[in-house]
Amino acid sequence: MKQFQICYKDDAGFLEELKQIKQWRTAHSGYVTIFRIYSEDMEFEHIRHICDCLDDEMPDALYLGCTTNANIMDGALSETKIILTCTIFEYETTQAKILQLPFSEENAAQDVAALKKCCDENPWVQAVEMHATIMDMSMMEFCNEMSRLREDIQVFGGGAFNPDMDDDTAFVFSKGNGVLDHGIIFLLLGGSDFHTYSALISGWKPLKRKFRVTKADREILYELDGKPALDVYRKFLNINKNDRFFSNTLEFPLFLEHGDTNILRCPLAVNDDDSLVMSSDMQEDAIVRLAYGDPETILASIREDGQKIADFRPEVIQTFSCAARKAFWGNENISDETILFHSVAPTTGFYTHGEFLRIKGDMLNFNVTLVIVAMREGDMPQTGPKVNIAREQIDKDNNEKIPIIRRFVSFIEASTAELEEMNMKLALSSVTDGLTRLYNRAEIERKIRSALDKRKNQGTCNNISLIMLDIDNFKKVNDIYGHKEGDHVIQALSDVLRNATTEVSSCSLGRWGGEEFMILLSDSNADDAAVLAEKIRLAFSSVSYETAGCQTVSIGVTQARDENSDALYSRVDKALYMAKAAGKNQVVRLD
Ligand code: GH3
Ligand code: MG
Ligand code: MG
Repeated sequence: MKQFQICYKDDAGFLEELKQIKQWRTAHSGYVTIFRIYSEDMEFEHIRHICDCLDDEMPDALYLGCTTNANIMDGALSETKIILTCTIFEYETTQAKILQLPFSEENAAQDVAALKKCCDENPWVQAVEMHATIMDMSMMEFCNEMSRLREDIQVFGGGAFNPDMDDDTAFVFSKGNGVLDHGIIFLLLGGSDFHTYSALISGWKPLKRKFRVTKADREILYELDGKPALDVYRKFLNINKNDRFFSNTLEFPLFLEHGDTNILRCPLAVNDDDSLVMSSDMQEDAIVRLAYGDPETILASIREDGQKIADFRPEVIQTFSCAARKAFWGNENISDETILFHSVAPTTGFYTHGEFLRIKGDMLNFNVTLVIVAMREGDMPQTGPKVNIAREQIDKDNNEKIPIIRRFVSFIEASTAELEEMNMKLALSSVTDGLTRLYNRAEIERKIRSALDKRKNQGTCNNISLIMLDIDNFKKVNDIYGHKEGDHVIQALSDVLRNATTEVSSCSLGRWGGEEFMILLSDSNADDAAVLAEKIRLAFSSVSYETAGCQTVSIGVTQARDENSDALYSRVDKALYMAKAAGKNQVVRLD
């Protein structure tokens, strides 16, 4: 695979470059030849002129291209508005085919069906490179359909764009198919000697705090955790509705996990109702986190993941990088991200309106991400120097000062973890009783009500029973042995309850008040409840306290009818009263 790179400045220079390419092809055994044309120049006629030149000069060459936010040439941001790459395959086995179709949400499924048919007819297809105009489109259905392509086909590409990020005009074009403002081009590549490897690199790192998408429709994110989505940016990052909204949120896009893959979505604008216009579709119930972009951290990720690209020993590297990354770095520094790939192989590409990569069969639509595609013909070379782009980073890690933002992030993460632990403790203490660690009165009452409601609403016929317990002559324990010893007896009874019910399913233990306890059995009838109650009575009476000796408990048991909780409490309370009246230390069951 041989790659030529052309910065289009004028016809004379362009024709000279084409002449050299033709000479090379004659001197070497060049087969399929493909030009990719990336244009920041939105003038239709300029693009058409270049296409005409290619048609005249190299009629057997394929070409395809799109308008872009900016171009990448020799691994760096190109100053030339129109760039071309010419890839000449050197193996006769390598094949390519172009499919260009009109593209909209309505015909996305149809387009994929046409692609699928083409792949079926051409079993050599291994990879599909795509360029598409995707502005204002939901890509959900398209991606779902693309995920059904033959499992082994790799797909990668990017959305056509405009140098003006606020302008929705974009074009795609290819040989024999003209220029489309709503179109998609599939470049099918493959053959037994063709190899490709792709990587997805973001570098933005998620913070721990999670938010749930509670309301979203296509790319409009209405609510996070039930509140207007802007609230998260306002409250946590002090980012407000103003002219700098996009550049401010760019440093903190939303991060969501899709299996093992991390996806970023960028808020582009705020609506009057404080909902956010996101860079692509958002799905309700997704869990999102704020991610932060820090130059050092991003570059470290690129070096690390980029090493896998270098290890593939590519002959050509293509990049589809989000225009938002360029906005984040600025024109001065954006090339830092891609330049290191150029030491591996000729690196070209463009700044996109959304990136695409198929991962483990799933076609995914990314934002703020860098998709790197490495291509090679023939086996991996066994000789020649291996490029190690990660090495520089390893040396740096040992010597360099850690950037302050990473110190702050680790401070925030540690504080968040501490707060989460405290919140968990607080949540637990609001439902449990301090002395016994059983549920408190309010919580056991809530659980009883909820069990009764659930049975009623869901029409299930599970048996619900209650066991109510009261320590006998407890006042005396306090009077004779002191309050502290009384507390020990209460704790001992709670241990007896826990031990006796470890094997009982659907069981909740609560302290009803003082030395009274309530057991909710949401899947036991009165027979089983009475057996358990007797087991508890015996177990408690056989515990001997150092000072207070043996104590006893009276127990009431009943099963819930179709009734409210008050009626149920009053019957179990009556059963307990009957146990006391009958001489204490016994179980009374009242049906
Ligand atoms: P009976 O057999 O009829 O239940 O007699 P009793 O003495 O247990 O009577 P009663 O239920 O009226 O007495 C409960 C006593 O429990 C009164 C109160 O001082 C004591 N008590 C309530 N809560 C606690 C506690 O948390 N710790 C201790 N040590 N005593 C408590
Ligand atoms: Mg009592
Ligand atoms: Mg008592």
